[in-house]
Amino acid sequence: MSDAASRPLAELRGVGPATAEALARLSLHTLADLWFHLPLRYEDRTRIKPIRDLRAGESAQVEGVVDAVERGFRFRPLLRVVLSDRSHATLSLRFFHFSKAQAEAFQPGLRLRVHGEVREGPAGLEIVHPRYQRVQPDTPLETALTPVYPAGEGIGQTTLIRLARIALAALPPDDMLDLAPAMLHGGAGLPGLGAALRLLHAPPADADIAALVARTHPAQQRLAFDELLAHQVGLRRLRRHLRAIPAPRIRPDPARRRSFLEALPFALTRAQRRVLSEIDRDLAASTPMLRLVQGDVGSGKTVVAALAALAAADAGAQTAVMAPTELLAEQHLRNFRQWLEPFGLRVVWLAGKVGGRARAQALAAIAAGAEIVIGTHALMQEGVAFANLGLAIIDEQHRFGVHQRLALRNKGRDAARTPHQLVMTATPIPRTLAMAAYADLDVSVIDELPPGRTPVQTVAVSDARRDDVVERIRVACAEGRQAYWVCPLIEESEQLEAKAAQATFEELRAALPELSIGLLHGRMRPRDKQSVMDAFKLGEIRLLVATTVIEVGVDVANASLMVIDNAERLGLAQLHQLRGRVGRGAAVSSCVLIWQPPLSPLARERIAVMRASNDGFRIAEKDLELRGPGEVVGTRQTGQLSFRVADLVRDAAVMPAVAKAADWLLEHDARAADALVARWIGVAVEYAEA
Ligand code: ADP
Ligand code: MG
Repeated sequence: MSDAASRPLAELRGVGPATAEALARLSLHTLADLWFHLPLRYEDRTRIKPIRDLRAGESAQVEGVVDAVERGFRFRPLLRVVLSDRSHATLSLRFFHFSKAQAEAFQPGLRLRVHGEVREGPAGLEIVHPRYQRVQPDTPLETALTPVYPAGEGIGQTTLIRLARIALAALPPDDMLDLAPAMLHGGAGLPGLGAALRLLHAPPADADIAALVARTHPAQQRLAFDELLAHQVGLRRLRRHLRAIPAPRIRPDPARRRSFLEALPFALTRAQRRVLSEIDRDLAASTPMLRLVQGDVGSGKTVVAALAALAAADAGAQTAVMAPTELLAEQHLRNFRQWLEPFGLRVVWLAGKVGGRARAQALAAIAAGAEIVIGTHALMQEGVAFANLGLAIIDEQHRFGVHQRLALRNKGRDAARTPHQLVMTATPIPRTLAMAAYADLDVSVIDELPPGRTPVQTVAVSDARRDDVVERIRVACAEGRQAYWVCPLIEESEQLEAKAAQATFEELRAALPELSIGLLHGRMRPRDKQSVMDAFKLGEIRLLVATTVIEVGVDVANASLMVIDNAERLGLAQLHQLRGRVGRGAAVSSCVLIWQPPLSPLARERIAVMRASNDGFRIAEKDLELRGPGEVVGTRQTGQLSFRVADLVRDAAVMPAVAKAADWLLEHDARAADALVARWIGVAVEYAEA
């Protein structure tokens, strides 16, 4: 970076302490910071529009002469300036905040150039608080589009524009600014960084403004490339860092694995066997495994995880299994106990609600080397000390952030050893997104469902046909089948959600008196939840009314009807998860989506996708299109995927080039890689130290 560019802004002429402070609030400290402080949008002041041609709703620049000035006070001070031009039309300029001097400066005959958003006012077209300047008939027009920057209190557009100009003048030559060599982004058909920045801060009058607004202009893509590259480099560094400390070599005992498989009531699918062998290979090495297993709902991830845990135990290492909800963790607890206790393994339970003596006992067992520990994020709390953690399994990864993943791993880590890490997710992630989000993980996919599953038939009905749905449940249950009725979140509160479920429960009990109906929601005590679940499993409860707590982890093969109330409120990923609770047995299953009118176009589209497809990948891709990536991967909270310029959906096409460039940089130019991470991520480099 050139010296001029790294000088504090406060040292510039015309930047007083107050302005410097206002700039600092926008994280702008040096000229170089201003390079990447990009305009939000642009105003076109390169041409003048005749007043006669103005339309309400458009932003435009006009030039005219003041006809009349009107000052008044109706509830608040008011200033109206009437402007007319050669098109013989008039436009009102309206001000609600103004100084006396400002008002007095408007005199009939004065020539003004004004810019702003035109709207329909009480006396014809008007612009409220236009930007304006006095001009002469020969004052030249702007030759570039005028940027509008993110501004803040104490700092306005004029100053930002002036400083941005100074900053651009201090741009170093391309070979210093472009941290990635041109061949890397050039392959993606993108300009150099200097050219891109110059264009974005001051686009020429003929720039493709539509592309700039859509943020698909090559100059914007160049910056997105830079930013995505910085993240990619950061995540790969993290991976390298994690793999620098050895993990225990783990090999399954062949005899015990065989007897585990023989005890199962089914054979593994080919996809499960393939993924297991990928895990085996990782575990056998002394570099820690960092593997993500993706598999649609019901693809059978749990048994694969249990086989890995058995192998770890064979090698004398402990396994921790962490799930995002207690219900899901309990499901794992039951499965792991059933599968692994016959091998003499101790399976310990630790959730947030475990307290007192039970907690002390669990902690003692963990410290004494119990082979399997299952729980929620409570596993990461202080005071939980493993004797010999060799494998950390994290289910439903999209609900945890990178931070939590690291925290669990750190539990079993010292300078000499680190555990292997296996992350499982039922949310299939499109490839380009996975590339960006999980650059620190290897990915395995269970892309096959166990045999005998029949695709779920999905229908959508409006709330007016609720009675038909109730009838359908009556018939299904009379045939010996079981059903779910899910009441999703109405307000952002577990309490209100529980209430809604309670009300529906009462309603259905009245409508179906002959049926045994159960209720399940997040505010029930774990023991009560468990007994309801057990009764449903045994078939004693035929219809289970539940909140979205059943989204993950409920597994009852005889249930073949899923009703989702207020389906228009749920996202695709959640709808797909819920629907995955049925279709697990041989019976033809169906899913009924009940919607409340009016249906928004977005909700209509989601429902159409659900009816058309049972394929989790297809649905995830649609989901990404409809919602944007942050929500899909659920990392919004962690901030890991919040980009300044890039957008993973819009800029997906550059991801392959980004991945290649990251390889190249890490291999050939570590200093440039550092500088790039500092430029875009700055403080987030903490991941690398985690
Ligand atoms: P998910 O991938 O959604 O976590 P689970 O591991 O809960 O799926 O498996 C769903 C159900 O399928 C469970 O009842 C499990 O025992 C069963 N299952 C797993 N693998 C197979 C298989 N190869 N054949 C038949 N059923 C299987
Ligand atoms: Mg699962």
